[in-house]
Amino acid sequence: MSKETDIMEYFDEILPNAACELNYSKDYELVIAVMLSAQTTDKSVNQVTAHLFKDFPTLNSLAEAKYEDIANEIRSLGLYQTKAKNIILIARQLLDEFDGKVPSDKQKLMTLPGVGNKTANVIRAEIFKIPEFPVDTHIARISKRLALAKSDDDVLAIEKKLRRKFPRERYILLHHQFIHFGRYLCKAKNPDCKNCKLTKYCRENKLSQQSSKNLNAADSPVQLDNHSL
Ligand code: SF4
Repeated sequence: MSKETDIMEYFDEILPNAACELNYSKDYELVIAVMLSAQTTDKSVNQVTAHLFKDFPTLNSLAEAKYEDIANEIRSLGLYQTKAKNIILIARQLLDEFDGKVPSDKQKLMTLPGVGNKTANVIRAEIFKIPEFPVDTHIARISKRLALAKSDDDVLAIEKKLRRKFPRERYILLHHQFIHFGRYLCKAKNPDCKNCKLTKYCRENKLSQQSSKNLNAADSPVQLDNHSL
């Protein structure tokens, strides 16, 4: 069985229902939520959008909002000043250029303030179910650990490799499964390798085993004796 098949089977076993963790009820709310999630957690975004989308319940109300009012709502997030401006500009642009609807076209999405390649791909996958494989920090880290990408690959290179390695119909679910795996098991610090079934593919695990072997060897009396001879 290939490594990719093993990974998919394992993810299906432990994360069969992985899905987007950002809360939204309207398409434009997802655009705003994903834009807000840059350099912060989905949990923090959900905390602010719970109030933001209640106090500004329509695209028009966001387009007409005062900067200070939006900034106050999202002050707990990093980069909140830029993000507050982006919220108002996104709402205005959606109304002025796209009839108040979120476009599915990637180039059009990327004209929205704060929306880059990854955010556009998340929106296309989540709202329009277009097979995209957006790569975030968790996916980049896991891809490198599992040798699906090189250690110096950037996110675009990783995205291309993942798209080549996995079946198209699995992109959207795998995107969520990688993220959940990274959030809850294969964390950046102290990954739960003891409970992971992918150790045989993992560079990180091999490195830590190697260093603990070296440590044990250095501590062993035999080695000390040999050294002293
Ligand atoms: S063995 Fe550890 S570092 Fe490697 S994929 Fe599993 S949890 Fe992540």
